[in-house]
Amino acid sequence: MRSPYFTTEHNTFRERVRRFISQEVLPFADDWEYNRCIPKEIWQKMGQMGFLGINYPKAYGGSEMDFFFSVVFLEEIGRAGYGGFRAAVSVHEYMATYYIAHAGSDELKRKYLSPAIAGEKLGALGITERNAGSDINQIQTSAVHDGDNYIVNGAKTFITSGTTADFVTLAVRTTPSKAMSKRGATGISLLVVDTDSEGLSTKKLDNKIGWHCSDTAELYFKNVRVPAENLVGRFNCGFYYIMQCFQLERLTAGIVALGEIDHCLEVTRRYIAQRKAFSSPLTNFQALRHRIADLVTDVEAARQLIYHTAWLYQQGELPIAECSMAKLKVTELANRVVNECLQFHGGYGYLEEYPIARMYRDIRVGTIAGGTSEIMREIIAQITIDEVRHDSRT
Ligand SMILES: Cc1cc2nc3c(=O)[nH]c(=O)nc-3n(C[C@H](O)[C@H](O)[C@H](O)COP(=O)(O)OP(=O)(O)OC[C@H]3O[C@@H](n4cnc5c(N)ncnc54)[C@H](O)[C@@H]3O)c2cc1C
Repeated sequence: MRSPYFTTEHNTFRERVRRFISQEVLPFADDWEYNRCIPKEIWQKMGQMGFLGINYPKAYGGSEMDFFFSVVFLEEIGRAGYGGFRAAVSVHEYMATYYIAHAGSDELKRKYLSPAIAGEKLGALGITERNAGSDINQIQTSAVHDGDNYIVNGAKTFITSGTTADFVTLAVRTTPSKAMSKRGATGISLLVVDTDSEGLSTKKLDNKIGWHCSDTAELYFKNVRVPAENLVGRFNCGFYYIMQCFQLERLTAGIVALGEIDHCLEVTRRYIAQRKAFSSPLTNFQALRHRIADLVTDVEAARQLIYHTAWLYQQGELPIAECSMAKLKVTELANRVVNECLQFHGGYGYLEEYPIARMYRDIRVGTIAGGTSEIMREIIAQITIDEVRHDSRT
């Protein structure tokens, strides 16, 4: 569908990303899935193409392009059809490094952001703990000031790229929760931690049902010394940074899910055009045609919500309700689309060698990771029913 948001430059960029994915990702991605690992070289290749710093300042190696170049990039990595790959890329570029770019010192940016943009260092984001998922205010991993260092103790779980990352942007408790007032700062800070630090160990969660090439891990911190200058932004203000950065995380989750939906529909359209039943291609059966018509109509409506939210974001707004709506709408729609598309494949959809089977496994987690659908609904309800207002981004 034509769109007022994309210029010729965006379209040319889309062709570049597509070419890169077809040459450097798709021929190898099944091996990555099998080996449960994305090789480090792909990050350097993406860095050389300028894909890892699309919106970041030129001073740190970024391209300073407008947000719709990121929309193009995220749609295309979603459309690649490997959930684990797009997860690792979006965590690296739009989460782990975003905090550093948004609130970090010049020194932190030179030490971590520049090499991340170049694809020389891989980043992870460590927020979730076993007893603090949706309710991140409950995090217990602690950081205690000791001279020129913080001493970190605790554990994180479900960390994307947890065993392969070079650094993790880590949420830590710097003031015990009981010492904080209910409405004040929450005593959480952010630290950038080198993953080769003494006392940091990891355990891969190898039993995921999808996202196989993405390494998801638990991280354990035992008296890990982190230089005090690795504090991101202000002490005890981590919760606010997280709430701000979550909006981008949710928007990016919606955009990649849109790419995944497009891929599901493309794969399915091809399949039903060549598969015959009762001497006729499946595309001739009205029962299927109308269901696909309903799906693509819902997809186009969801696409406009995504693009509008991206446009608001590009204007410098922090569109909290729209970011939550975008993630809720598109990740739930992706589940519906992939479920229907698998049905249209008949028994073959249930076989691993058909891409729809992998997509069925990969897409499922979209309504959970990065904030569940229930939490998205709660945020939307707070804004629309309770009239909760949030600060603007700028
Ligand atoms: C594959 C994968 C990769 C991930 N990658 C990362 C990562 O890189 N970094 C990171 O920090 N985290 C990561 N996560 C963690 C993810 O963000 C959390 O799983 C998610 O926020 C939900 O937390 P939880 O799993 O603890 O569920 P819980 O918080 O225990 O929720 C369980 C259920 O209760 C519901 N619920 C909770 N509170 C409410 C409420 N107030 N109202 C209504 N319902 C509620 C939830 O919606 C959910 O259905 C990842 C998770 C997965 C599965």
